[in-house]
Amino acid sequence: MAAALNLGRMTLPSSKFLSRPSHLLSVKMQMQMQMQFSSPTLTKMSTDAQSVASKLDSSGLLRTQGLIGGKWSDAYDGKTIKVYNPATGESIVDVACMGGRETNDAISAAYDAYGSWSKITAAERSKFLRKWFDLLMVHKEELAQLITLEQGKPLKESIGEINYGAAFIEFSAEEAKRIYGDIIPSPLSDRRLFVLKQPVGVVGAITPWNFPLAMITRKVGPALACGCTVVIKPSELTPLTALAAAELSIQAGIPAGVVNVVMGDAPDIGNSLLASPQVRKITFTGSTAVGKKLMAGSADTVKKVSLELGGNAPCIVFDDADLDVAVKGTIAAKFRNSGQTCVCANRIIVQEGIYDKFANALCDAIQNMKVGDGFSEGVVQGPLINEAAVKKVESLIHDATSKGAKVILGGKRHSLGFTFYEPTVISDVDSEMRISREEAFGPVAPLLRFKTEEDAIRIANDTNAGLGSYVFTNSIQRSWRVAEALEYGLVGINEGVISTEVAPFGGVKESGLGREGSKYGLDEYLEMKYVCLRNMNKE
Ligand code: ADP
Repeated sequence: MAAALNLGRMTLPSSKFLSRPSHLLSVKMQMQMQMQFSSPTLTKMSTDAQSVASKLDSSGLLRTQGLIGGKWSDAYDGKTIKVYNPATGESIVDVACMGGRETNDAISAAYDAYGSWSKITAAERSKFLRKWFDLLMVHKEELAQLITLEQGKPLKESIGEINYGAAFIEFSAEEAKRIYGDIIPSPLSDRRLFVLKQPVGVVGAITPWNFPLAMITRKVGPALACGCTVVIKPSELTPLTALAAAELSIQAGIPAGVVNVVMGDAPDIGNSLLASPQVRKITFTGSTAVGKKLMAGSADTVKKVSLELGGNAPCIVFDDADLDVAVKGTIAAKFRNSGQTCVCANRIIVQEGIYDKFANALCDAIQNMKVGDGFSEGVVQGPLINEAAVKKVESLIHDATSKGAKVILGGKRHSLGFTFYEPTVISDVDSEMRISREEAFGPVAPLLRFKTEEDAIRIANDTNAGLGSYVFTNSIQRSWRVAEALEYGLVGINEGVISTEVAPFGGVKESGLGREGSKYGLDEYLEMKYVCLRNMNKE
């Protein structure tokens, strides 16, 4: 990396729209009349990151203000916060640091827009969503670079996230046209009974940093399809992708106020969303602790709540598993995004007959994983999000080794420095160690040993969490038995990556409420209204 450069204030050239595909110009030019642009201040960037940020800036996708009622806005008191590149520790840009006042205005804008957005036809909403999806695809490369820049995951994984994240918008565009009601056979001859599905209203969507695009589209896609409007609060660690996606929603012609974005003081923003009677739904992905607060805070105004919280995913490898499939699947489930997903395998529970062979094969495969800046060729593991994340991994490993576990690969910070951590495997872990009870959210694979299928199920279910789980076996009978016995919302059998927009994603126990994706995901944004029509034969 070259020495840090201070670029100072960059200006957005007025001709920047000319570099866009011509089919975007008309929508963009209309928006130009309404919108106020500000020039991001890119600070202290190494040359690699600088060229990425400059390219993003000139394509109009590096936004730093919140979006309220179709207008880009600074924080009312002018406060800003820095967004950092976790691979270098350098600050990328300052973004608006908003709070309750801006959130209240965003809620009012969403409430005003709800009147018309909920009344246009499903086919019209579908077209807007489709256009948004198309624009996300047109800008796939730039958006992926933005994710790598602010979140750190390897560029290839970022591209995967854009494909995955955009797919929720495409799927929602399709499903918007299939939100059916019902007619119930009446018990009385002069009455007719109907069920209407109607949008729940204004939605507050609070999202984490590990999937800066997908966690947003997974919520906003179905919300908009159903006729809801949204106030999004992305993580302060990764707001840039959310803002770029919001910019593309404007370019797609989605009317002002339908999509709003505020970021800054999380509790202040959260409290405003909770207090407002106009916000009828909170949808959240993040820690269990914050999710519980939001659930409790929703009680006063009795909001509908969807929560996608922490996991503690077991990955069970039976003696009869295909070793190669089990190793590949475990690596995909464990080391994706440097272990920073709520469905990452947290406990690798291995049957005694295959334990040593599996441990050796896993270490051999992981040894070849290249760690580094997500922009570098061949890198498969980026940095952790921040110093606190590394400290948590260190403390869990320390706790485990002090109680008898053994580090058999890695086990320390990577020589690259910053928040890079070596891919790590620990053997002889047991269920009482903290690493078995808490989400590591890092590149550490703890191996636990079991004897029988009953043991495996008992160990796997011995947790308050219940989101992702994985099973490796070649027995079809065992697959069914274990899948049914696992107290989890998601089960992958001989597969480590199972998330898709067409299937319902969500947890049981303290991992959350509700499902995202699939036809079921739309129900989270709908109310059922029962209508009874009497005397239907009289005028
Ligand atoms: P993580 O550990 O993944 O960052 P958090 O639950 O802390 O999980 O954060 C997830 C999202 O919740 C982020 O957007 C964060 O800013 C937001 N958040 C954190 N605390 C609160 C709060 N008190 N009210 C509302 N949102 C919050």
